Amino acid sequence: MTPERCAGPSHRAGRPCGLPAVAHGLCEAHYQQSRRRGELRPLREGPPLVSVPGLALRLPQDVAAWLEASAERQGVTVSEVARAALAAAARKASP
Ligand SMILES: [Zn+2]
Repeated sequence: MTPERCAGPSHRAGRPCGLPAVAHGLCEAHYQQSRRRGELRPLREGPPLVSVPGLALRLPQDVAAWLEASAERQGVTVSEVARAALAAAARKASP
């Protein structure tokens, strides 16, 4: 049996997201979108993401609260906000 695929929108016109579905016929990211704002948007596209050995973040309470509030406001996951913030810091730090 074929695993269920996400029916959420993609950047490819007329084609669904297609990632493995985890709940309600949606992938994890689209399911989070539907829970947070009910409106589904195409997922961000970019370079492939990798795990960083040794990185398991524990954050000060105020930083965690900022991440959660930003994610809620933008209708994205907390991970996406953290990823964008770290990417911006990395770009700023490199010559
Ligand atoms: Zn999806």
